[in-house]
Amino acid sequence: MTTPTPALEALLMERSLTDAQLLAAAEAAADFRILPDATVLKIGGQSVIDRGRAAVYPLVDEIVAARQQHPLLIGTGAGTRARHLYSIAAGLNLPAGVLAQLGASVADQNAAMLGQLMAKHGISHVDGAGLAAVPLFLAEVRAVIFSGMPPFKLWMRPAAGSVIPPYRTDAGCFLMAEQFGCKQMIYVKDENGLYTANPKTDKHATLIPKISVDEMKAQGLHDSILEFPVLDLLQSARHIRQVQVINGLVPGNLTRALAGEHVGTIITAN
Ligand code: ADP
Ligand code: MG
Repeated sequence: MTTPTPALEALLMERSLTDAQLLAAAEAAADFRILPDATVLKIGGQSVIDRGRAAVYPLVDEIVAARQQHPLLIGTGAGTRARHLYSIAAGLNLPAGVLAQLGASVADQNAAMLGQLMAKHGISHVDGAGLAAVPLFLAEVRAVIFSGMPPFKLWMRPAAGSVIPPYRTDAGCFLMAEQFGCKQMIYVKDENGLYTANPKTDKHATLIPKISVDEMKAQGLHDSILEFPVLDLLQSARHIRQVQVINGLVPGNLTRALAGEHVGTIITAN
């Protein structure tokens, strides 16, 4: 075990916790990743799970097979039921912190369903993001399912001028990958990746195989296939410096992406 450097200890006693010198000293320790071999997957709510059996069964089969090679933390999106709840609650002018809890309940439902589908393979759904037993689950069955909404609950930081929680399941899954220092973060959705415009409404949209956060912002694509706060989280991350968005409706895509292939859009921090 390393003890804090005397310099850091002295700074911590004397300075504000956001003092520049103190922050630099606190950064000096060698990089450490808690779960460096694990991949975090986000299974889309609206884009995947809401499509039911046709979308979900093939993905379950791929996950069950792929986990032998790639330990997996599987987060769930929320989707249409959450959007319905948000529309009612926003109409009642309830705050972001309340909407966050409503959205979390839907991501929980999706995690519970995936948990039932994978139960016979020993893969469990864990409650909450405390995840104390996650390393044990990974060691024993190589995969675990969690609810993708970050557990900010009532303490969700509201977006300016909106009661829609800005940090939802794309962000929750990203934060898991980043905090655990995981190997990679893959978003499983229903399009081949990021396009020049929403392919559902623009026939002329073309696929962008690779793009940086700054380029996405410059092209006005920051509010598109990922929740836009994820882009800022990605830019300031230490471990997860890129994410891949893939089409989980195409059989084999997930397996290929896990093997390190570029099958969708790779979004890089810089
Ligand atoms: P999730 O189910 O993970 O919440 P979303 O439905 O929020 O996923 O996001 C995926 C959707 O984003 C796609 O189905 C697509 O309709 C939409 N989208 C908007 N703009 C773009 C874009 N430029 N490129 C690709 N998809 C886009
Ligand atoms: Mg979404």
